[in-house]
Amino acid sequence: MGFKVFLNGKFVEKDEAKISIFDHGVLYGDGVFEGIRSYGRKVFRLDEHLDRLYKGAEVIRLQVPVSKDGLKKNILKTLDINGLEDGYIRVVVTRGSGDLGLDPRKCAEATVFIIADKIVLYPEEFYKNGLPIVTSKIRRNHPLSISPEVKSLNYLNNIMGKIDAIDAGTNEALMLSVDGYVAECTGDNIFAVRGNIIKTPPFEVGALDGITKKAVMELSEKRGFEVVSAMMKPEELYSADECFLTGTAAEIIPVVKIDDKVIGDGVPGEKTKTLIRDFKELTKNEGVSY
Ligand code: PMP
Repeated sequence: MGFKVFLNGKFVEKDEAKISIFDHGVLYGDGVFEGIRSYGRKVFRLDEHLDRLYKGAEVIRLQVPVSKDGLKKNILKTLDINGLEDGYIRVVVTRGSGDLGLDPRKCAEATVFIIADKIVLYPEEFYKNGLPIVTSKIRRNHPLSISPEVKSLNYLNNIMGKIDAIDAGTNEALMLSVDGYVAECTGDNIFAVRGNIIKTPPFEVGALDGITKKAVMELSEKRGFEVVSAMMKPEELYSADECFLTGTAAEIIPVVKIDDKVIGDGVPGEKTKTLIRDFKELTKNEGVSY
């Protein structure tokens, strides 16, 4: 089934959406992106996603050739013209077309596109029974190499982590920082639950400052859980009562095993299940309509 995407100011059929092979997004992964979800024709935390996109662009000194408001309108329109009730939106801003050197000054104008589609990240059984993950041997990018403020188009670090997960016969991998602290998974933030405390690594360790993570921290506080953002060693995860991952595409998914260590009782924990229910309710009730 054909659908329309937004590309550089115009709506075009998916199969007609073409960018240059000289685009530095293609040649170097030079650019930023966002993954956003809509629920019941309402986009969840759209302004936060746009803020992160524009902030990341600013950090890499990429001029987005459209205003935040203009992009927002076109995101809503892309969802609407494709008739999506519940959708997954990918917004990409690349450096644009240049020459074969790295110099970003040679790229006259950024490329901007928006795709609205559906996404299923993990099979449903894992939401019900919990996900086993493994620890990747690949360490997360050091924050001094690429700031975790930037959701960069260069995802090779994460993809190498994902390959480790696939090689081990699992769907997701835990990534540690260069000095051995828990950072995040390849496409999700990670949380450990112990008693009433819900702990997640700070973004300074090299983890993306997730928008779902923030929503889950708010929901946890509302439930009276104590939310802590702090460094943790993998051992803290192994001995946690519960563990779960958060991300726009993944939403909230329980983790029941890391390598050969069973987490808690080896089934999704009560606090995780409560937060999954609360998150579902939240996404139903808030968002920007189209
Ligand atoms: N970490 C990484 C590496 C990600 O790519 C993502 C987004 N898929 C997340 C964490 C979660 O962020 P968010 O909740 O904003 O989607």
